[in-house]
Amino acid sequence: AREAYLEHSLPSRATRVMTRGNTRSTLFVPPAPPYAVQGAGSIVTDQLGHRVIDCNNNYTALIHGHAVPQITEAVTGLIGRGTAFGLPTESEIGLAELLAKRTGHSTWRFSNSGTEAVMTAVRAARAFTGRDKLIRFEGSYHGTSDAVVSRTAPGIPGGVRADVIEVPQGDREAFDRAMAEHGNELAAVLIDLMPNRAGLVPADAAFVDHVRESTRRVDALMIVDEVITLRMATNGLSGAYGVEPDLITVGKIIGGGFAVGGVGGRADVLAVFDPLGTGTVGWGGTFSANPITMTAGRIAMELFDDQAVADLNDRGDALRNALTEAGVAVSGSGSLTRLREPLDLGELWWAAYERGVMLGTNGLLALSTAMSADDLEAIERACVDAVHALRGRN
Ligand code: PMP
Repeated sequence: AREAYLEHSLPSRATRVMTRGNTRSTLFVPPAPPYAVQGAGSIVTDQLGHRVIDCNNNYTALIHGHAVPQITEAVTGLIGRGTAFGLPTESEIGLAELLAKRTGHSTWRFSNSGTEAVMTAVRAARAFTGRDKLIRFEGSYHGTSDAVVSRTAPGIPGGVRADVIEVPQGDREAFDRAMAEHGNELAAVLIDLMPNRAGLVPADAAFVDHVRESTRRVDALMIVDEVITLRMATNGLSGAYGVEPDLITVGKIIGGGFAVGGVGGRADVLAVFDPLGTGTVGWGGTFSANPITMTAGRIAMELFDDQAVADLNDRGDALRNALTEAGVAVSGSGSLTRLREPLDLGELWWAAYERGVMLGTNGLLALSTAMSADDLEAIERACVDAVHALRGRN
């Protein structure tokens, strides 16, 4: 079946104008990925007319699946009145008010991606503390800016590398050593409490508390990256842990299907961006807080209320239990699951896709509220069958 995708005209057109036909590294599956044509609720249809239940949901962003009627209707109405302005709009106040109420973080600033949200938070921490160093954890993904990609990645200047310390997630000894050595030059610790790339294993609560206490002790900030984990609880995973970060970064679900990022947190820290302040940080963003994204995001978040969050987490728990009972190794929590089988990830992706389920290319399953009970049964069956089929091959 995958040869039919490779032989289709779209991959060959794409490879002529983009390196290996690719714009997002995270979407590439060899030999070439299918192309999406349409999304409706939990279902995506590709260029060959193959329909799959979407467990990728644009890497966890589409909390309600595709073409959510309430969002489509609101956005369609707005588009005819202008999509972006050189003036702020009321819509950004609405989303900021909603997020402040939900998370307890008083002050917000929006952008167009999680990458930018993390860049904004790191800049804020450095400006606020007057320090350069950043501690973050190995294997965690925080987008693509220089400071947060692997120190050994090509294209990262030595000067940037010198100010970033990478510590294994949960390694208290290594963390304490880094704090002892760099604590008084430290701007912030950046942590994801359930890092997807690093295996989707929830952080140890005692370690998280230790990070909080240690950063306070040296007057450094704690930034929790909630770009993926905001969906885990109404007030995000940091809320569920009961930890109080100085800043959180968000994205994905808060855009209602449109490009988004955001930073929330302490008013005194985000005051580094005060346009009337002296020596403050200037930070634009031509499409940041545009009314389409802000409105779609507000509606998506209103629909994802306490009950919806709890229901979706319950469904994820049931799915993981069923997969575990069927002998499939999984990690994750709530509505996020990862298949943790020692199989080729490209093969696993295709095996699931051919059985009607779209995963993340790393074996990630992100549930959406658009999924029916039948969808969840079909997801379970497809994952079990795909894993068994590949195991049989070895
Ligand atoms: N932080 C985390 C935890 C993420 O998972 C991601 C994206 N998957 C990002 C930041 C970057 O977000 P974006 O892709 O919107 O730039």
